[in-house]
Order: sequence, then structure tokens, then C-alpha cells
Amino acid sequence: MIWTPSPNFDARPAGAAIDHLVLHYTGMQSAAAALARLCDPAAKVSSHYVVDEDGAVYALVEETGRAWHAGVSFWRGVAGLNDRSIGIEIVNPGHEWGYRPFPEVQMASVRDLCLSILARHAIPARNVVGHSDIAPDRKQDPGELFPWAWLAAQGIGMWTDDFAPAGDVLADLAALGYDTRFPPATVITAFQRHFLPDGMTGEADDATAGRAAALRRTAEESTSFL
Ligand SMILES: [Zn+2]
Repeated sequence: MIWTPSPNFDARPAGAAIDHLVLHYTGMQSAAAALARLCDPAAKVSSHYVVDEDGAVYALVEETGRAWHAGVSFWRGVAGLNDRSIGIEIVNPGHEWGYRPFPEVQMASVRDLCLSILARHAIPARNVVGHSDIAPDRKQDPGELFPWAWLAAQGIGMWTDDFAPAGDVLADLAALGYDTRFPPATVITAFQRHFLPDGMTGEADDATAGRAAALRRTAEESTSFL
């Protein structure tokens, strides 16, 4: 862990729980450029941690502080997720600069960091989210190449490979946490990017409706996902 302090944070609201974990990609051409921006007072952005592609972990903001990573955001009825989340920026050029798979050594560090955060804070699996989940109109990160299924197998976040009989897909997505006030294609694409990355159609097709129903059932039946 390399302490690289950023000035871009303030205090969490009094009494705010830390009960969300938000995963990002940096979306910049290099780790150095991302770290410079996340520590630049003029940029007014930061995260608690940055994980480089070689597995190095940088700590920028103490977990008690409110890092500025999520921006305008919403999940499960809660807006402004900076107040009550830990944010991790995972180095990747992103869709703008040459999106590529996340190396194994990087993901091993992401896993270890997430497990240590989950041990320190009561964060339900349902509240381990991507930036695109909580800001689907603005954000694509960490993107469809991010290994959510693998992370869930390590005990981090929610996943299912199942398909259940389809219900009302938007009602299911709202129950999972998405802000369904956005246009349906926006919300559905965000859901697919996380939970059905091989089926990013932007449409409420059978696979999407089936996966959404299965996830909702999983979320509502398993206390470990509360
Ligand atoms: Zn982000």
C-alpha cells in the first residue's frame, strides 16, 4: 500500500454509514496520469484507492473521509453515494483510450483490497456496485470486461448465472437498486454491462429479463445479500 494523499475529499455527513463499495476504472492513458489527476486540487476528483495494472495499491483518502468519486449517483433509493461509500479506481484506459482486460495480478489486488474493506465495514453484497450501476446516464466503468462473476466467487458482490421466468424487467431492476427514472435502454444497458456482459443489446430481451428476475430472487431470498 502506497500512501499518495489527495486533497480532494471532505467530511462524511455526521452518522453516515459506510455501506457501499463503488468500483471504477480510471479511463486514462496511464496510471501516473490518473494518480496526478486524482491528487490535483483543480480536478476535484479522488478515490480512496487506486489499483494499478501491476497490482500496486495506492491509498489516496482515509476511509473515514468522503472521497469524490461517484458524483451524482443513486442506488436502492440512496442518492449521493460519496457520503456512504468507499471508492476504488482500477487502472484501465477505458472505452475512450483502448479498453482492455484487467490483468490477473491487478484483480488479485482488487480482491484482497475489497475483502479487507468488507471486513472493516458492513457492506451488503448488493451494495458492491460499478460506477455505471449508480450513474447509468453518464458512466460506463468499470465496464463489461470487468470480472464481476469471478469477484463474486471470491465473496465480493452479487452474481448469478441463472435465468428465472421473466417478470417486469424494469420492476426487477428497480428492486435491485437501479434508478429507473432514466430511459429504459439506459438502465438496461447498465444492468447488462454488469450482470449480462455477453448480451449487451440495450433491450429487454429474454436473457435480460430472465437474468434480472433471477438476480432479484437471489437478492430477496438470500440474507447474505441483504
Ligand atoms: Zn468512475
